[in-house]
Amino acid sequence: MHEFDLDAEAVRQLGYRAVDLAAEHRAGLLDRPVFGKVGDGAAAFDEPLPETGQPIAQVLATVRERILPRPFGNSHPRFFAFINATADPVGIVADYLAATMNSNCWGGDHAAIHVEKQVLRWLAAILGLPEESEGILTSGGSMANFTALATARRAIAPGVRQDGFAGTEPLVVYASEEVHNCVDKAVDLLGIGWKQLRKIPTDERYRIRVDLLKQAIAEDRSAGRKPAIVVGNAGTVNTGAIDPLEELADLCAAEGLWFHADGAYGAMAAISKQLKPLFKGLERADSVAADPHKWLYVPYEAGATLVREPGRMAAAFQRPAPYLVHDPASPVRGPVSFNERGPELSRGFKALKVWMGLKHHGTSGYAAAVEHDLAMARALADAVSGHGDFELLAPPVLSIVGFRYRPAGCGLAEPELDRLNRQIVNRLVGSGAFFLAPTLLKGRTAMRVAIVNFRTREEDVRALVEEAARAGRELLC
Ligand SMILES: *Cc1c(COP(=O)(O)O)cnc(C)c1O
Repeated sequence: MHEFDLDAEAVRQLGYRAVDLAAEHRAGLLDRPVFGKVGDGAAAFDEPLPETGQPIAQVLATVRERILPRPFGNSHPRFFAFINATADPVGIVADYLAATMNSNCWGGDHAAIHVEKQVLRWLAAILGLPEESEGILTSGGSMANFTALATARRAIAPGVRQDGFAGTEPLVVYASEEVHNCVDKAVDLLGIGWKQLRKIPTDERYRIRVDLLKQAIAEDRSAGRKPAIVVGNAGTVNTGAIDPLEELADLCAAEGLWFHADGAYGAMAAISKQLKPLFKGLERADSVAADPHKWLYVPYEAGATLVREPGRMAAAFQRPAPYLVHDPASPVRGPVSFNERGPELSRGFKALKVWMGLKHHGTSGYAAAVEHDLAMARALADAVSGHGDFELLAPPVLSIVGFRYRPAGCGLAEPELDRLNRQIVNRLVGSGAFFLAPTLLKGRTAMRVAIVNFRTREEDVRALVEEAARAGRELLC
C-alpha cells in the first residue's frame, strides 16, 4: 500500500518543509504583484488525474512554483479590495494544529467543543450580548446570516418546518438598500421570496431611513402580510455605514419583530472600547452575524452566528437521527450539539484559530489593530480631500473609503467620470501595485478601499492617491 501513516520524524520533516514555504511566501509577497493573476498560465492547472503518485518534495516544489506565487493578494499591505483581511500568522498555525487533530465538531465531550463554546461566549461579550446567548461558528458571514435568519424564521412561524408556508400569510423581511446580497440569498433559500424582501432607501450617509421603514411595515400589515424580521447593518459592505441600531431595536420591540444585525464587517470593531459606542443598540439584537475572518484576521474560514435567546437555534435545526448520540448516559455526550445549531453535521475545528488569536492578542491587541485600520482609512480620506482632483463620496465611518477621480477644471460628464474611474481601477490592479475594487455610490462609480490589514502603512494609502491621480492624467491625455 502507498504510505499514508508517516512516523513522527517524517511528519516533522514534512511540516518543516511547509513552514519554510509559509515563511518564504509571506516575506515574498512584497516582491510580486498584489493580485496573483493566472492569465496565460491557466494551462498549468489543466492536468490529467494522477494515477501514480510523486514524492512529496516534488509536489511541494510544484506548489511553490505554481500556486503560492498566485494568491488573491489579501495578505499584501496594498490590498484594499472587498473586505478581505490579511491573515494573522497565529491563525495559520492554529489551522495546521486544528487539522492535525481533525476533530469533528458536531458535538461531544472533547476539547474542540469546549473551545468553540468558549469562543462563542467571548464573541457574545465583545458584541455586548447576554452571557446565556447561544451561537455557532460558520464558514463565513453569508452562512452566519443564513443561520440567524433560519432561526428567526422558525421563531416567527413555528409551524414552518413541518408545514412549510402553505396557507400562512407571507413573512416580510426589511433591510436597507445597502444590505449585503447574502441576505437576498437567505431570503430566497428560506422560502420567503424576494417579493417579501423590502429594500428601504438610505439617507445621505447610507443608513436605513427608519421613517420609511415604519411606513413599509404599516403598509404590509394593512395588506395582510406579516412583518417579521428587520436586518440592521452594523457596518455595510459598501461604505461601512452603521444603521441606527438603537432605533431599530426600539422599533422591533414596539412592533414585535425579530431584530437581526448583520455585523459581518463591522461588529467585531466593538472589541475596541473607543469604537463600541458606534454600535449602540447592537446588544439588543435577537441575532447577530459576525465574521472573525474579517476583523479578527483569522485565515478563512470563520464566521459566527449569535442568538440572544437560548433554545431558539435548536428549535430551528434539531432533527434527531438514530445514528447520533441520544443516550443520556453516553460518555460521548458533550456541552453543545453544534449539529443542532445549523445545517451542518460534520464540521472542522474553526474555533482554535479564534481562540488562539484572542488568547495571544487579547482584546487590547485587536482593538489597536482595528483602530489602526480606521486611522489608515482616515489618512486616505484626508489625502483624497486634500487633492484637488479627487472627490470624497463616502467618508469613512469604519475603514472603508469611497472616492473618485474628478480632475479640476475638466468638466467631465457623469458617464465619462464613471468610465474613467473604472479604467483607473483596472489600470492600478493590472499594474500589480494595488488591489482595489470599484463600486456604485448613489449611482456614481467610485473607487472603494477597505482596509482590514495590519500591514498597511500611511505611505501605502498615500501612494494609492498619487498613483490613481497619475493613472487618471494618463488616461485623459
Ligand atoms: C463580508 C460580508 C458578508 C458576507 O460574509 P462572507 O464571510 O463573505 O460570507 C455579509 N455582510 C456583510 C456586511 C459583509 O461585510
